[in-house]
Amino acid sequence: MLDWQLDCSGCGITRGPEGLPTVCEACGQPWLVRYPNRPAPSVAARAEVRRGHGMWRYRPFLPLAAGETPVTLGEGDTPLLDAPRTGKRLGQPDLWIKDEGANPTGSFKSRGLSAAITRAVRAGVTSFTLPTAGNAGVAAAAYAARAGVSVRVYAPRTTPRTILSQIVLYGGDLHLLDGHIGDCGKASRAYAAESGAMDLSTLREPYRIEGKKTLGLELAMQFNWTFPQAIIYPTGGGTGLIGMWKAFQELREAGWVTDPLPRMYSVQSTGCAPIIRAFEAGADRASAWEEPWTIASGLRVPGPLGDRLILRALRESGGSAVAVADEVLAEEARQGTRETGIDLSPEGGAALAAVSVLRARGELRPEDRVLVFNTGSGWLYREPADLLPG
Ligand SMILES: *Cc1c(COP(=O)(O)O)cnc(C)c1O
Repeated sequence: MLDWQLDCSGCGITRGPEGLPTVCEACGQPWLVRYPNRPAPSVAARAEVRRGHGMWRYRPFLPLAAGETPVTLGEGDTPLLDAPRTGKRLGQPDLWIKDEGANPTGSFKSRGLSAAITRAVRAGVTSFTLPTAGNAGVAAAAYAARAGVSVRVYAPRTTPRTILSQIVLYGGDLHLLDGHIGDCGKASRAYAAESGAMDLSTLREPYRIEGKKTLGLELAMQFNWTFPQAIIYPTGGGTGLIGMWKAFQELREAGWVTDPLPRMYSVQSTGCAPIIRAFEAGADRASAWEEPWTIASGLRVPGPLGDRLILRALRESGGSAVAVADEVLAEEARQGTRETGIDLSPEGGAALAAVSVLRARGELRPEDRVLVFNTGSGWLYREPADLLPG
């Protein structure tokens, strides 16, 4: 028995979990999973969760029915590392990095796609399609391989070649397009309509959020059931931010963490900053960014479907939003990698660069515990020749 329901994040109507939910039929906004019929996880169950492994250890908070097994590659359990040298340089001594590059496919996209493909395959789906800025395509191809199903991936031609090669490596049917992820989304939806393949786009199905929610559950456990004061998240489609905000509320409701909720900060590149622009304008929707470009390909999402939910989480949490230039985030990734031994992606570099900005603006206090996300591994953006001497 599937013991959860879906609540529309826009108009609030509710539906059951059966079938293959996409977005709300009434208002077009994403569904969010709720578990009103499950007994709230008891505080005693924290010990059991601690004994588990991977992201599915948080099963009491996840969309898995009794006796079901997930489609998994061992995602989650990524390192939470202190970064004292970088923290000292940035004036933020209690600085931590969550290294999501340690996931099976090199980025935190593993978490969302493990959850989404699990639910869809259990509902009988054998063929998928998705648009990607890169890393979601790698994860979709790997989890599709794991489940023995097929996936078509639409990606911008300008995506880093190492990422594209990983999609092909796992058996993804890769289609390269001129344009950005929004253009890939149109092609993917057209293909879904004509072929019957299921579209795995961010927030066009409800379960990637639940997978990304484990970012929040896991960091709380790793901090011994406490929250940091601030979280800095490189934001593209926003699934991780929305998912973490949901996780923190669920942890508080269950009494697993009693701290105040963290302040949430989005960072984007100045070359594609629809969320920062909307946040600064006081808007509750983000208008599409024209001619989006950034080397941090995961952040090249000009018109995220989750804009309302992202902006709401930033404001409700007392956080804010920061744009940093590509040169700055690239330099921060390079320097941060040498200081920490963590292979930072450009997105991770953006998160570190935001620390300085927020510090200068007085939005971070020196005593705050600050957690930045390295959402993917740097090697996915490079070719060996980029590093070797001439
Ligand atoms: C997808 C991606 C992001 C953006 O994640 P969202 O949850 O969609 O905002 C950031 N960094 C990397 C490396 C990504 O692959």
